[in-house]
Amino acid sequence: MKTSIVAILALFTLAVPAWSQTPDTVLINGKILTVDDRDSVREALAIQGGKILAVGTTADIRKSAGPRTRVIDLQGRTVIPGLIDSHLHAIRAGLTFGTEVNWVGVPSLAEALDRIRQQAASAKPGTWIVVGGGWSMNQFRERRRPTQAELEAAAPNNPVYVQMNYAWVAMSRSGFKLLNISSDADLPQGARLEKDAGGNLTGAITGNQPGIVALFDKLPRPTFEQQVDGTRRFFRELNRLGLTGVGDPGGNNLPPSEYQALFKVWRDHQMTVRVTYSLNGQTAGSEIEEFQSLTRLLPAAFGDDMLRFSGPGERVTWAMNNNDNPSDADKANYYQIAKWAAERGMSLTMHWNNNASVDHLLTLFERLNREVPIRNLRWSIAHLNDASPQSLQRMKALGMGWTVQDMLYFSEDASRTLPPVMTAKKLGVPVGAGTDAHRIASYNPFTSLQWLLDGKTAAGVALRRVDDTPTRNDALRFYTIGSAWFSHDEDKRGSLEVGKLADLAVLSKEYLSVPTDQIGSIESVLTMVGGKVVYAAGAYRQLEETR
Ligand SMILES: [Zn+2]
Repeated sequence: MKTSIVAILALFTLAVPAWSQTPDTVLINGKILTVDDRDSVREALAIQGGKILAVGTTADIRKSAGPRTRVIDLQGRTVIPGLIDSHLHAIRAGLTFGTEVNWVGVPSLAEALDRIRQQAASAKPGTWIVVGGGWSMNQFRERRRPTQAELEAAAPNNPVYVQMNYAWVAMSRSGFKLLNISSDADLPQGARLEKDAGGNLTGAITGNQPGIVALFDKLPRPTFEQQVDGTRRFFRELNRLGLTGVGDPGGNNLPPSEYQALFKVWRDHQMTVRVTYSLNGQTAGSEIEEFQSLTRLLPAAFGDDMLRFSGPGERVTWAMNNNDNPSDADKANYYQIAKWAAERGMSLTMHWNNNASVDHLLTLFERLNREVPIRNLRWSIAHLNDASPQSLQRMKALGMGWTVQDMLYFSEDASRTLPPVMTAKKLGVPVGAGTDAHRIASYNPFTSLQWLLDGKTAAGVALRRVDDTPTRNDALRFYTIGSAWFSHDEDKRGSLEVGKLADLAVLSKEYLSVPTDQIGSIESVLTMVGGKVVYAAGAYRQLEETR
């Protein structure tokens, strides 16, 4: 009986009609960096039903095409798996992308002010003009921040708010008036009016992270329609840069109420970036109750290939957030949440900056792992730029990964060391690349890739290295299959292999051979998510399906 079933199954396999194996799209004559185990480079690739059907030579792939197959001639261009930023605050960035002024990658302050001028020219008088971050004065030729007078000259009829990092905000006088700020007493706790050496107000506000976060919250929010539009446009902007996936770590100014725009884009089948999202602790002291209530009907990994819930992070509790000296009570509270998450099979990602204090966190996870194993849950630490081999070894033993961002790209401090990504690789710690955009950093993955390779900051300062420079293949691996690991997706995406999702980008320049200082200027000319063209430019313009 068994034999006959096998025989019938075999017959059935043979009887599958030829059309089901005919690709709907083929890409030929290219240089396809597959990011498979051997970093194979192939000429051509076939796609069917959103997945990769075959990779091989142009001759073979061309032969498999049928009369209805769409044939895309790459004309020698490089193709990479769609990039995945393992730590990008994309949900928040999308909410304001349609309404904020974008200074990402702008090379001069003059040009940056020009962007404010342009926005002011079309904005209704009195509406806010906001720059929400993603820039640093080190990227400007002028090496300085804008003055209040410059903001007012650029937008004489609009209040202006310009935020740098979570540390500094400049506003026009009309902005101060609208927010009723005339003294330190009017500012959120942790923020104060900036004074120059002579004790005069500069028109700027300095502060710590909670202070600046609370200040931002005083600005009017975009309407829901603007948020939905901004989300779609932000995803398209990421597609322009070859991104097809992000791990979203929640973040400041992003309470659960702010996810509705994303959910609408998902419901409308308009997602062009795959999003795996984490959930932050919101209210100091009652995070556990919040997590429980917010996830009662939201199990780990719930969602689909376009939108999926991951677990707690990157701020799990306020008390342990940026705290190098947590108390026993802080740790007990955190432990309770971590245990709760582990028991539910959730992934947890944790923001931690300093290796000197990470023992607090690792000791806690080690204790938890003895009680409720987390080894297979793909927990991770984000940032930790100065991770020591010892910390990485402890992470490896816990089955943890490390998400690495290019925050130091904006640094001025040449004594800083690049994150030891090759040490991590050698120790077997999964590394996912990314940016931490868009308040802290630019979201441009090619800026981040170039920085991983040459270690140079926006101001051109070369940072120190503790270990070998990654090869271009290594860096690409971190940004693709490396990042896919964090959402248990490395068998589904992150490389261009048979059976995987057809997420890819055709690049404007040859990633493997251009001079390193040109990597930052690479863009995609054709981006596909699940075989669908979500962005196309130049010669491929007419192929875009989402416009
Ligand atoms: Zn963080």
